[in-house]
Amino acid sequence: MTQFPEWDYILAGGGLAGLVMALKLQEKLGDFRALIIDRDPKKEDDRTWSYWTQHAEQLPDIAHQSWGNIMVYGREGEQHYSINPYRYYTVRGVDFYRYAQSRLQADERFSFLTDRIVDLNEGEGIIRTAEKGEHRAKWIFKSYFTLDDLSQIKIYNTLYQQFKGLVIETERPVFRADTVTLMDFRAKRPGEGIRFNYVLPFSERKAMVEYTAFSPRLLPEMTYDVHLEWYLHEVLGIREYQVHKSEFNVIPMTDYPFHSEAEGRVVEIGTIAGFVKGSTGYCFTRTFEKLDRLTEDLRRGKDPRQSTLASPHHFRLMDSILLDIMCRDRVPADLIFTNLYSKIPTSLLFRFLDEKANPLDILRVMWACPSKEKFVSSMMSQLFQLATNRRPGGTRPFSFFPD
Ligand SMILES: Cc1cc2nc3c(=O)[nH]c(=O)nc-3n(C[C@H](O)[C@H](O)[C@H](O)COP(=O)(O)OP(=O)(O)OC[C@H]3O[C@@H](n4cnc5c(N)ncnc54)[C@H](O)[C@@H]3O)c2cc1C
Repeated sequence: MTQFPEWDYILAGGGLAGLVMALKLQEKLGDFRALIIDRDPKKEDDRTWSYWTQHAEQLPDIAHQSWGNIMVYGREGEQHYSINPYRYYTVRGVDFYRYAQSRLQADERFSFLTDRIVDLNEGEGIIRTAEKGEHRAKWIFKSYFTLDDLSQIKIYNTLYQQFKGLVIETERPVFRADTVTLMDFRAKRPGEGIRFNYVLPFSERKAMVEYTAFSPRLLPEMTYDVHLEWYLHEVLGIREYQVHKSEFNVIPMTDYPFHSEAEGRVVEIGTIAGFVKGSTGYCFTRTFEKLDRLTEDLRRGKDPRQSTLASPHHFRLMDSILLDIMCRDRVPADLIFTNLYSKIPTSLLFRFLDEKANPLDILRVMWACPSKEKFVSSMMSQLFQLATNRRPGGTRPFSFFPD
C-alpha cells in the first residue's frame, strides 16, 4: 500500500542552505508542512561567514560587523582599496542559526528534528534517521554531506580551501579597525598551492586572524599553527595575546558539475549542489540568491528539479580557467590577485565574482590578468576538454553546452 507523504518538504540538513531554504519557503509559500532534520542542534558558533554586498537590505540584519575598505599585500606591497558601493560583512554562524530557528520555530508549518540521517530513498522520497525511523515527503531538499561525498570531484580542477582562524585579543592596539586584510601574501609558502593570511579586525585590539591555503591536498594541522604563529609574531609584531575562539574548515573549490544530480523526489542544495563559488570558496550570498530562485519556481508550480541552480556557462568556464591556473601553478596567485585588485575597480571585480558582470566587464577583468597568454592557453585547453569530453583523470558526465 502506498503511503501518503506526511510532509510537503523535508530539509535534509539544517545548516546554511537548509535554513535559508526554510526561510524562503516561509516567505513565499502559503499552506505546507516542512520538517528540518539535522544531526546537530546548531547552537554553537561553528563558523564565521563573510561576504560583500551592496544590497544588505536583502539579507537578514544580523551582521556582526562590516567594513568599507580592504587591504591586499602582494607584489606591490601594502595596497588599500575602498570597496564603495559595496561593504564587506561578517556573520557569526550562531547568530544566523538563532535568527532562522527563532523565526521558523514560531511558525507552525515547520517542525525540527535533531537526528542523524542514515538512509535516503530518492525515488520514494523517504528519509530514515537513526532514532526516529522513516519520514516521507513530496520533495526532499538535501544539503547534508561529508567530505567523502565530494571525493569524485578530484577528477576535475579541484583545490581545497583550508583555513584555521583564531579570534585573538591583544594587549595593545595593533589592528586597523576599518580595514579587512583580504589577502596578505607574505605567508611563507612551503610546498604546493596558494597560501595567504586574512584578518577581520573587530577593533584595534581584537581580530580574527586566519592562515588559508588553496591546495590540492589536505595539510597537517600543525602547518596552520606554525604559520599563524609566524604571521602574528613576524608580520603583525604581536607577542602577547589571548585566544577567544579557534575555527577550522575545508571548503571545496571545484568546477565539478554538481547540478546533474536531481533524481526522484530529491533536489540537492548548498555545497553539494555547487553553491560554493569554484574559484573563491564564497557562498553566503549565492545561497540566498539561488534558493530565492528555487522557491520562486516552487511558488509558480514549477517542478523544482527543473530549476536553474547552476551558474551561467561562461562564468563556470571562468572558474575552470582560474582553477586550472591555480591548480597547476601556471601563474603565481599573488601576481594574479595583486594585478586584479590594482588594475580594476574593486566594484568591477566583485561584480565579476558575483557573476553579474556584462561582456565588457569580463573583457576588462581578463585584460587585467598577468601572463595573458597562459590564461588564453588555459581557456583553449578547458574548452578542448569540454568539447572532447575529457577531463584530467576521467570523463565528464555533463556538458557546459546545451544539447
Ligand atoms: C568555519 C567555516 C567558515 C566559512 N566561511 C565562509 C565565508 O566566510 N564565506 C562563505 O561564503 N562561505 C564560508 N564557508 C563555506 C560555506 O558557506 C559553508 O560551508 C556553508 O555552511 C555551506 O552551507 P551548506 O548548507 O552547504 O552546508 P552546512 O552549513 O555545513 O550544512 C550541512 C548540514 O548537514 C548536517 N548533516 C551532515 N550530515 C548529516 C547527517 N547524516 N544527518 C543529519 N544532518 C547532517 C550538518 O550538521 C550541517 O548542519 C565557511 C564554512 C565553514 C565551515
